[in-house]
Amino acid sequence: MVTKDDKEKIARIFKEMADLLAIKGENPFRIRAYEKASDIIKHLSGNLEEICRQEKISKIPGIGKGIAEKVKVILKEGTLPAYEQLKKSIPPGLIEILSIPDIGPKTARLLYEKVGIKSLEELEEAAKTGKLKGLPGLGAKKEENILRGINLYKTRSSRILLGKALPLVNNILMELKEKAHPVIERISIAGSLRRGKETIGDIDILAASFEPSSLMRVFTSLSFVSQILARGETKSSILTPEGLQVDLRVVPSDCFGAAIQYFTGSKSHNIKLRERAIRRRLKINEYGVFTQDKRKIAGKEEVEVYRVLDLPFIPPELREDRGEVEAAEKGVLPHLLNQEDIKGDLHIHTRASDGMDEIPVIVEKAREKGYEYIAITDHSYSLRVAGGLDSKAILSQVEVIKNINSRLTGIKVFSGVEVNIKLDGSLDMPDEVLSRLDVVIAAIHTGFKQDRETMTRRIIKAIRNPFVHVLAHPSGRLLGEREGYDIDFDEVLNVAAEEGVWMEINSQPERLDLTDYWAMEAKKRGVKVVINTDAHNKDSLDFIKLGVITARRGWLEKEDVVNTLSLKEFAEILKQRRVRK
Ligand SMILES: [Zn+2]
Ligand SMILES: [Zn+2]
Repeated sequence: MVTKDDKEKIARIFKEMADLLAIKGENPFRIRAYEKASDIIKHLSGNLEEICRQEKISKIPGIGKGIAEKVKVILKEGTLPAYEQLKKSIPPGLIEILSIPDIGPKTARLLYEKVGIKSLEELEEAAKTGKLKGLPGLGAKKEENILRGINLYKTRSSRILLGKALPLVNNILMELKEKAHPVIERISIAGSLRRGKETIGDIDILAASFEPSSLMRVFTSLSFVSQILARGETKSSILTPEGLQVDLRVVPSDCFGAAIQYFTGSKSHNIKLRERAIRRRLKINEYGVFTQDKRKIAGKEEVEVYRVLDLPFIPPELREDRGEVEAAEKGVLPHLLNQEDIKGDLHIHTRASDGMDEIPVIVEKAREKGYEYIAITDHSYSLRVAGGLDSKAILSQVEVIKNINSRLTGIKVFSGVEVNIKLDGSLDMPDEVLSRLDVVIAAIHTGFKQDRETMTRRIIKAIRNPFVHVLAHPSGRLLGEREGYDIDFDEVLNVAAEEGVWMEINSQPERLDLTDYWAMEAKKRGVKVVINTDAHNKDSLDFIKLGVITARRGWLEKEDVVNTLSLKEFAEILKQRRVRK
């Protein structure tokens, strides 16, 4: 069976081939072909093996005969001879250098040929000692950027995205339950993963079992184990093929509640609880809550641990010591939003720009998710790399959507656009066209390095446009790849509050932007949030759960998020924004 991972693997091989060819200075067309194929396969929906079997693969635009053959070979053999050969022709460390932002194949080649740099370590050393300065196109500024990039890269390789960790741990739990169910009494994820942090160091699993040793035996022999780091009676650690550490702890079931509380963290949240316990002459640890005469008064259930400290249950996403213990004490914890509250997704790309699916396919998926509405928001013209639409094309898409809606019941498709914010803050589409669209989301895709003042002015100008409803991926950060733009975000939020413009929580695993922190700040200023997936294929609509987790970490309630509204209410507030002006 071909899984999503296979698509990712093939995409990765093609991307790497493109990079390798580029380092060698090969024909740009050939390089571009591999890059394109990588992109297409990564976003392809449907079963890849099926597509190959029906010989449909070479009919996909952008995939030629040669590439199609290579896909088949990888599916069959797990790798590609041409790829293996290519890899041998270049020092392996040189490929890793390409993971550093700001270093493309051309620069890598230059570094190799002129300075003899073959690895990340050598690059770091050279940048620190100022050896890169003399090279063409490499000033002091670039040297600084490279060092910052190396730091970012190092944190990324030691941490994994929430969006990757969640499916991984679900598979682990499934296999564990399947093979060890007779001896598992209870099992749960713990640690930062349970708190929904955007990146995860290692995965913590906690189980209650009356036969810990057999559970450990099953755990250390699961299919995804590539290395056993430690095997003990109550704790074992393994490494997955991706290099991710997974720890399993086993406790007696009458301690499970205290243990899951303790191992979920965060550390600073637990310190708060411990201080609270001490004030009540209680002792709290991973085994339970105890009185001074060592009597155990809580431990089996997590909720009990909070109860004996005179607190209501605090959802894991809030346990960061950002005021949750105080709020719990006063009885003013937020009623956090749930995934079921989401009624629609307002940031979706189709084949008209750089998406992979047609509107009807997306509608079906949205229907499965129980949505009442979606908005189609392809890119605007100036984003040529993403096949952006010009005014004429977008208006003809409006007609297509009208037509689709006339045949739909129970769900509505809004027409929209993800309009590019140009360098000066003006929008890449005339107002008269924007006025004919239901939903306008504005976003920055170029000129990330403008200075703070210019960038802040640019974004404010864009959201002052009366036709804009949403600012998409507001900070522009890409986890482990790119820091957010340098902006005065307080100022942006103040203007958004004034204008009634919504801030997006973009649910793409590497974005999660707004961050939890800024979602909270938006709420404080009365700025509404919309949680979108920015899906480029139908399956990506499932990323919504990552956005919801981020919103929960930002203390958001249903009322704070506009796409929890019913279709009728939502259509109404879409119009309000424009009536105001
Ligand atoms: Zn975008
Ligand atoms: Zn987008």
